[in-house]
Amino acid sequence: MLILMKSGATSAQIEAACQAVRDLGYTPHPIPGAVRTAIGITGNKGPLTPSLFTRLDGVADAVPVSKPYKLVSREVRPEPTIIEVGNTKIGGGSICVMAGPCSVETREQVLSTALHVKAAGAHVLRGGAFKPRTSPYEFQGLREDGLKILAEAREKTGMPIITEVKDTDSLAMVKDYADILQVGARNMQNFSLLERLGEIDKPVMLKRGLSSTVKEWLMAAEYILSRGNTRVILCERGIRTFETATRNTLDLGIVPLLRAETHLPIIIDPSHGCGYAAGVTPLARAAVATGVDGVMVEVHPEPAKALSDGPQAVTFPMFDRLMADLRGIAQVMGQTI
Ligand code: PEP
Ligand code: MN
Repeated sequence: MLILMKSGATSAQIEAACQAVRDLGYTPHPIPGAVRTAIGITGNKGPLTPSLFTRLDGVADAVPVSKPYKLVSREVRPEPTIIEVGNTKIGGGSICVMAGPCSVETREQVLSTALHVKAAGAHVLRGGAFKPRTSPYEFQGLREDGLKILAEAREKTGMPIITEVKDTDSLAMVKDYADILQVGARNMQNFSLLERLGEIDKPVMLKRGLSSTVKEWLMAAEYILSRGNTRVILCERGIRTFETATRNTLDLGIVPLLRAETHLPIIIDPSHGCGYAAGVTPLARAAVATGVDGVMVEVHPEPAKALSDGPQAVTFPMFDRLMADLRGIAQVMGQTI
């Protein structure tokens, strides 16, 4: 159920409505909006009676939520969620470009990439220090040394950093360095990790699982919001299909649908979405044309020498071209980069 407060409701009236929810043994989630505050209710097993709340002062209405996910849904919050990180806004009309190497390998690699993508107009620096690899014999990341390199790149460029948190054990460490915590596709349903991320005060980017449905993905996001962290970004990174010519199948068809279902910002990762460098710019262009909030692209100074995901990394000149293309498409879409 969703309690809709009147537009002029006082904070005392909002608190009284929240208390009425707590008195029933459920959890209230106040969601301030441009015009009015809504209060989502979680913890109830069955439908609630609207009059429990409509009789309270300052309450305009109480309506059932028809979706299995509540706090991530547009029903509960019609306005888009806009997440501010550093000087950058994710969601709400501008395109956020996240760029950088798949893995942090060396200081020089990260600093040169950071300086280049920043000059080309990227907003957020990406780089993995904890790498969840299919094989235990492949490069697993530089761990805290990698995080320190990312922090130095942030200091030098002013760009916020996004990096993957692989498990609950390393969460405290990664959280200290990252501006945005990335949950990898393989961890989308790591519910212990999601619960812990719900309790922290940093934005989280939740990648879609390799074979996850939109409903499973939104329910995973709901885990984070239901624990109090409302700053969640969704990232489509391709799903597993019968096709093996590309690494994954980038599912752009869900973008308009996601827009209707959720207020959370949507980022597209064309790099993992196709797995080959020549595919990245065309897919990034297509992503912006669907009206997303941004893209995340893997960039490497020498892709042939990359310790992970070299085949899908774009070079510096390719990244410059990609940015120029995205600016043109963003303009057509009425968005800024
Ligand atoms: C990555 O971003 O480098 C990564 C490991 O992505 P995914 O979890 O989507 O495979
Ligand atoms: Mn990668």
